Amino acid sequence: MGFLFFILGLFFGSFANVCIYRLPKGKSIVYPNSFCPYCNKSIKWYDNIPILSYIFLKGRCRNCKKPISPRYFIVELLTGILFFAIYKRFGLTISTIIYNFLILCLIIVSFIDIETFLISDIIVIPGIIIGLLLSFLFPGIHNMDHINGFLYSLKGTILGGGILIFLGFIGKLLFKKEAMGGGDVKLLGMVGAFLGWKCVIITLLIASFAGVIFNIPLMIIRKKNFGDLIPFGPYLAIGTIVSIFLKGRYISYFFVESIKIFIN
Ligand SMILES: [Zn+2]
Repeated sequence: MGFLFFILGLFFGSFANVCIYRLPKGKSIVYPNSFCPYCNKSIKWYDNIPILSYIFLKGRCRNCKKPISPRYFIVELLTGILFFAIYKRFGLTISTIIYNFLILCLIIVSFIDIETFLISDIIVIPGIIIGLLLSFLFPGIHNMDHINGFLYSLKGTILGGGILIFLGFIGKLLFKKEAMGGGDVKLLGMVGAFLGWKCVIITLLIASFAGVIFNIPLMIIRKKNFGDLIPFGPYLAIGTIVSIFLKGRYISYFFVESIKIFIN
């Protein structure tokens, strides 16, 4: 069964790649079939098999031999591994389906953010609504009843968006320029809608930590200044994925409890 989720992840990863390429260009994600961006030749089904085709073609278009971005391979494999890992953690449950759906959205949003520095409203705004709706319909994912599940999710959206608006305001005072994109606000709002307010805190802590760890070396290599615009979406995605795996585990209580003490 785990293997099935891995394969399913590969195909959803392939779909994510289509979205990552087409959504920022405002193109349809269902039509036409995939084609090479260099020679415009449509890609045959046997050259469009997740992971395997990329390996067999050695990362090049069969027709014009121009290189295919390694992003295709990375996104497919990453989605496959995460779908598998979520299944291993949560079993054959509604939680597994919902978390995998959220992860798929996060992968699409993150890679678009890396390539264009934009968070796609077309994903995160419906995402907020879907997250709120699912929390009401399947409150078991929060171990609550319908009303409390919905409220927990609503608080997550408000807290997620609210914290980042607040941090953006502080950042603006410190750096005298826009430090936090409006897209990140909506993205953490979406995460809150799916996972509830406690996970928002854990997500933001891990995302900030990951941001510092990965960005300082990147800034040194690229000779950028602290406070320059960096895509924060991928770090929020990393934070979210880690907090999904921590859900209900002792360490997550530790985070939330220590925040409560801090606030009191
Ligand atoms: Zn080509």
